[in-house]
Amino acid sequence: MNARIEKRDNSLLVPENPVIPFIEGDGIGKEITPAVREIIDAAVRKAYEGRRAIEWREVLAGEKAWRETGSWLPDETMTLLRENLVAIKGPLTTPVGEGIRSLNVTLRQTLDLYACQRPVRWFRGVPSPVLHPERVNMCIFRENTEDIYAGIEWMSGSDEAKKFYRFLSEEMGVSKVRFPDTSAFGVKPVSVEGTERIVRAAISYALDMGMPSVTIVHKGNIMKYTEGGFKKWGYALAEREFGDKVFTFSRYESLRKEHGEQVAAGALSEARSAGKLIIKDIITDAFLQNSLLKPEDYSVIVTLNLNGDYISDQLAAMVGGIGISPGANINYVTGHAIFEATHGTAPDMAGKGIANPCSLLLSAVMMLEYLGWTKPATMITESLEMVFTQGYATPDLANMVTGGKALTTNEFAQRLITML
Ligand code: NAD
Repeated sequence: MNARIEKRDNSLLVPENPVIPFIEGDGIGKEITPAVREIIDAAVRKAYEGRRAIEWREVLAGEKAWRETGSWLPDETMTLLRENLVAIKGPLTTPVGEGIRSLNVTLRQTLDLYACQRPVRWFRGVPSPVLHPERVNMCIFRENTEDIYAGIEWMSGSDEAKKFYRFLSEEMGVSKVRFPDTSAFGVKPVSVEGTERIVRAAISYALDMGMPSVTIVHKGNIMKYTEGGFKKWGYALAEREFGDKVFTFSRYESLRKEHGEQVAAGALSEARSAGKLIIKDIITDAFLQNSLLKPEDYSVIVTLNLNGDYISDQLAAMVGGIGISPGANINYVTGHAIFEATHGTAPDMAGKGIANPCSLLLSAVMMLEYLGWTKPATMITESLEMVFTQGYATPDLANMVTGGKALTTNEFAQRLITML
């Protein structure tokens, strides 16, 4: 019998045959989505010998929805996504001049998917621009709803921009705007609740997965109240809610000030030996450098929206780029989650049957893990590594390595299925 996934008492209740809505996606979405569903179905069948199976249910969004219903994001789609909690989605074209800024942003905002989760690891055989990609094993938690990305901004020369400037200068005493007549303005909201829920998600994930540290990445040295607040509230939450399971660098600092370097270092080393999760922080620019030079120092990263956008792509590039980087947008409180390809519709290769399905596939693997179906998830990642090690890949990756054997999207999917 088919059934809905539900969230009850803080945990996800997953039936043996859950209904999972999928958005096929535009452009290469038509090629990668069926391939990914086929691989997932094969792995689930093999892992559970037919006792479990996903009941896929197509929901419309993007160009296909526009063609068939005259709406880019029909109400029925939103209802089904809301009711079924967990969904997967191919890339969508951003409509130009249709009143919707971006379908992805609309989905995230409507379902309040506040955590953008991006695991970054390297698969043997995948070309990488860094010397030691095997040292990269991180998971980014990017806050999805606040920051300068909240979409609160006014165009240069507009009445709103002028009014906003008048407010700044007359009521707030701001005299630092260098060229007020031509300035555009943006607002950067960062709240205690917004910070706490993303930091809580990152720490819970690190503890569940047995990862060694959580790093708060911020520009609090310059933006003291917004990004500085993020760091301060993050540390406070870690100490208040996770107590003995963690050791924070804010505690390290207070020990150092009170009792000196030696005592603080002793407490840190004791916490490490006791297997406590270390919570530390770093300024964003230093992180961008250090993550290239010493990626092994970082495991779970928690950061604000804009920082997270830059960091995700840099780390993705270190292990093979967007064609292979998965992602998910999650609300850990309601349970709503959309697992998605992190790249776009790739109009330059659509229709050729050569798109890399791995970004969507690894997002689907994250979905299986989210459902607690870890066996098929592991089978897929292990098989993927074997396929890459043998030199097989879609042309975007195969053409970058000597001896690489290029396969079409479908050939790649079939080879992976035979490896399961
Ligand atoms: P894109 O990600 O579609 O393409 C960038 C480059 O990466 C292209 O050269 C493309 O061929 C390559 N590429 C992307 N996915 C690939 C894959 N799976 N395998 C191999 N190569 C791949 O970015 P774009 O060209 O800037 O955007 C095209 C459209 O996609 C736009 O309408 C944009 O708004 C939309 N978009 C959607 C999403 C999303 O739905 N999450 C994300 C980004 C862009």
